[in-house]
Amino acid sequence: MPENAASAAERLQAVLTTLRTTMDTQISTAPSVREEHSHGEAMNAACLPEAVVFAESTDDVSAVLRACHAQRVPVVAFGAGTSVEGHVVPPEHAISLDLSRMTSILAVNAEDLDCRVQAGLTRQSLNAQIRDTGLFFPVDPGGEATLGGMCATRASGTAAVRYGTMKENVLGLTVVLATGEIIQTGGRVRKSSTGYDLTSLFVGSEGTLGIITEVQLKLHGRPETLSAAVCQFENLHDAVQTAMEIIQCGIPINRVELMDPVQMQASIQFSKLEGYRPLTTLFFEFAGAPAAVQEQVSATEALVEANNGLGFAWAESAEDRSRLWKARHDAFWAAKALDPQARVISTDCIVPISRLGTLIDGVYEDIKASGLRAPLLGHVGDGNFHTLIITEDTPEGHAQAWELDKKIVARALALEGSCSGEHGVGMGKLDFLETEHGAGALSVMRALKNTMDPHHILNPGKLLPTGPVYQG
Ligand SMILES: Cc1cc2nc3c(=O)[nH]c(=O)nc-3n(C[C@H](O)[C@H](O)[C@H](O)COP(=O)(O)OP(=O)(O)OC[C@H]3O[C@@H](n4cnc5c(N)ncnc54)[C@H](O)[C@@H]3O)c2cc1C
Repeated sequence: MPENAASAAERLQAVLTTLRTTMDTQISTAPSVREEHSHGEAMNAACLPEAVVFAESTDDVSAVLRACHAQRVPVVAFGAGTSVEGHVVPPEHAISLDLSRMTSILAVNAEDLDCRVQAGLTRQSLNAQIRDTGLFFPVDPGGEATLGGMCATRASGTAAVRYGTMKENVLGLTVVLATGEIIQTGGRVRKSSTGYDLTSLFVGSEGTLGIITEVQLKLHGRPETLSAAVCQFENLHDAVQTAMEIIQCGIPINRVELMDPVQMQASIQFSKLEGYRPLTTLFFEFAGAPAAVQEQVSATEALVEANNGLGFAWAESAEDRSRLWKARHDAFWAAKALDPQARVISTDCIVPISRLGTLIDGVYEDIKASGLRAPLLGHVGDGNFHTLIITEDTPEGHAQAWELDKKIVARALALEGSCSGEHGVGMGKLDFLETEHGAGALSVMRALKNTMDPHHILNPGKLLPTGPVYQG
């Protein structure tokens, strides 16, 4: 029979037969395992993979891709499944390739402030294991994500304002290409002006160009002093203006996060935050040598006062600080707790920071017109914010939420922003890419995809809408 004449189901069985000769105990077709790998934390419809393969090494990943490439079987890389735009939802007759057993730290080079890890390690586990070195990895998305998944979605979080995103913190990668070939990108040096920057190409590629098995990461020294404070405002514009002025003045703030009154109310209830009112709130963190922290605090206090802030509440102890930041990281769950039966979808717009106030005004109009409840919070120092749209878990409810999301994205794009600052495209943002990037740039992206993955086995249907391909 010619290679492609078999049905998709037969080709998938052929892949499993090949893999069972060496990886039998690493393959699961149990309904509960398939269900777990059929969706992420998104509202997109789930689809069961036919099988889940648990990779334990780069060679395992290579063997899976070689077999899938030969049989044209789709493969979806799966880290922790915390992505929120349907990234890990498999197409029909696909394999989910789970990397969560690849959790080794391969090297820590404390003198050079870098390390190499396997892709299935979570950032929380990395930081716990390297604590004694005095170093840490700063990129902190809210979910318990893997570092491979974080590379693949070009993730960031509350610390991006100071340390940047995955884009700035990945030095090199081991990647398995669609054919099963293994390549190294980048290296250990902080800069290099040689060749195309393949590391940056794979960071943010959502498992559509290759599967990352090892990551070389920058580490950072734990700051000598950390200090956290909360400031509330009667008026949201005053809070946004304060954050903007902090950035414009070049104050090297560690984190500055915003919660609007609706989110604050939810977080007060869910995280048992005492002593706060449901008002617009900025969460600050300052880091560095004691004198530098004092300087940052004084400069920030002056800006807060000039913008009608209601005074600082300090979290002095490590325990208070971590309670505060845990409350921030739990914001999604706090919003969900407002209506446990409902679905929550998170928008993820970003605009140049000077346009943030204008965007949020428009977003409030859209929320009001929709009749939905939608707490708002954000990495305000980057101009990035999320609206957590709470909607009925019914097709009509979902449609209503997508409609609101669409309006919010349209406003951000009109203000020279992006439809996603950190969550990525997956399936959820496909419709906005042409407006954001233009047809020409998308046609080049499709040409790259066709070169790297000619049979479209790697996470098909994600990141790129269909359309014309650049021909040269
Ligand atoms: C409560 C909550 C809060 C969140 N907060 C943030 C936030 O602040 N900032 C932020 O950026 N994100 C946030 N997220 C989203 C999510 O945590 C990130 O997108 C994260 O990077 C996904 O990592 P993961 O390991 O779960 O990847 P998965 O969800 O398993 O996969 C994500 C994508 O990466 C691909 N992939 C996974 N591993 C690999 C690999 N090794 N090689 C190639 N491709 C791979 C998958 O195929 C998929 O396309 C949040 C999610 C939740 C649920």
